[in-house]
Amino acid sequence: MESSEVDVFDDDLKKLVNDMAETMYDAPGIGLAAPQVNINKKIIVVDIGSDEETQRVGQLYTLINPKIVESSGFIKYEEGCLSIPGVREFVERPSNVKVEAQDETGKQIKVEAEGLLAVCLQHEIDHINGTLFIDHLSGLKKKLANKKLIKMFGTSKG
Ligand SMILES: [Zn+2]
Repeated sequence: MESSEVDVFDDDLKKLVNDMAETMYDAPGIGLAAPQVNINKKIIVVDIGSDEETQRVGQLYTLINPKIVESSGFIKYEEGCLSIPGVREFVERPSNVKVEAQDETGKQIKVEAEGLLAVCLQHEIDHINGTLFIDHLSGLKKKLANKKLIKMFGTSKG
């Protein structure tokens, strides 16, 4: 199920994105989409954290109504999901994406991402479009992942 667009940028929205970020960091996870906390709105938070090796510094992205407007390249990355505990699978996706969104004040923003950040943004944007990472798997792997989900939740859509 696709989530609905956010059109009111008020204090409630700011509180919600703060709560979502807190939930993500507590998990700990590197991304969270509003449908994962039972809020059917197009809101995601992402922070892939710091990495000493590549000298990457963590940054929190709060994206309202995010849309992928360009994608290119290819990456295969082992993904997991806070909504599907215990399942990790390699997923193939574009390695570079351009995302248009709004911030929590309603201002238009653009994010260009590659590698892990691009993977994470696509994974979270999938959530608000009603897609799980296991939907990208093919054949037997998808069947097995769905079986695990049915075992856990009684349904394949968590
Ligand atoms: Zn997820």
